[in-house]
Amino acid sequence: MTGYLYIVATPIGNLGDITRRSANILKQVELIAAEDTRHSRKLLNHIGVDNKIIAYHEHNEEKLTGQLIEKLIDGTSIALISDAGTPLISDPGYKLVSAAHDANITVIPVPGASAAIAALTVSGLSCSKFIFEGYLSAKAVSRRKYLRKLVLESKTLIFYETPHRILDLINDMNSIFGKSRSVTIARELTKKHEQIVRDTLSNIKFKIENNKIKSKGEFVVILEGSKGNLVKDSEIIRINKILTERVSPKDGVLLTAKITGRKKNEIYKLVHENDKIG
Ligand code: SAM
Repeated sequence: MTGYLYIVATPIGNLGDITRRSANILKQVELIAAEDTRHSRKLLNHIGVDNKIIAYHEHNEEKLTGQLIEKLIDGTSIALISDAGTPLISDPGYKLVSAAHDANITVIPVPGASAAIAALTVSGLSCSKFIFEGYLSAKAVSRRKYLRKLVLESKTLIFYETPHRILDLINDMNSIFGKSRSVTIARELTKKHEQIVRDTLSNIKFKIENNKIKSKGEFVVILEGSKGNLVKDSEIIRINKILTERVSPKDGVLLTAKITGRKKNEIYKLVHENDKIG
């Protein structure tokens, strides 16, 4: 008999959120594969688990996947957990689950918390259709380029962000999606300093700059989808290009703003960055 591979969700802050089934599975399995063994020990001690634990993270994922599959084939049942929330969601595990399917091993979900879903449900934004974007690039140019592609997206958008980049992300969103688009910041969910704030992008920017929302802890950013009244960035660049064949770059920006209803500085930035990208 081959072993089972359990994908076990753990709390995103409040240890009380561990489910009874998760705790039971973690007690029963012969091996727990965890992102950070020291971090997970805290949770395991809390639920009285003293099983064998092995580190499985993005740096040894490649090497260890084969070894874990061999153990599963030999009959060992393994539970995969991450530092917080649901494994594979912006966390390691995809290679293992994929390899398990290839080896005909049964993969069993043990669901629980995930910051994305917890944040979405309290965001006050539409939950009927949404897209999980996870982390965006840390590089400003590629992040902005990516965000521009989402301008016309009507579904609610979910992002993960680190505290030291949260203001940059909100600044970019503010200039790309417009000041009045709604956004919800879900900070430190289920923890002592939990904060959930829905407001316009410009007000959220103000609140972060003025420390009303602290740039500390863990963040999920939920952005309202487009209501369909924006002119595509690519269209703005095309219009500007046609105009500047006849008028000065300055007048080109001015006229493009009049035609599309977008702000002059937004168009200037867009055109400038497009020139840089080539
Ligand atoms: N697998 C996890 C899940 O299911 O949510 C996500 C892991 S990802 C490496 C960590 C990111 O999730 C953080 O940077 C933050 O964006 C988000 N996150 C995790 N816990 C959170 C919390 N308690 N409050 C807000 N965001 C959280």
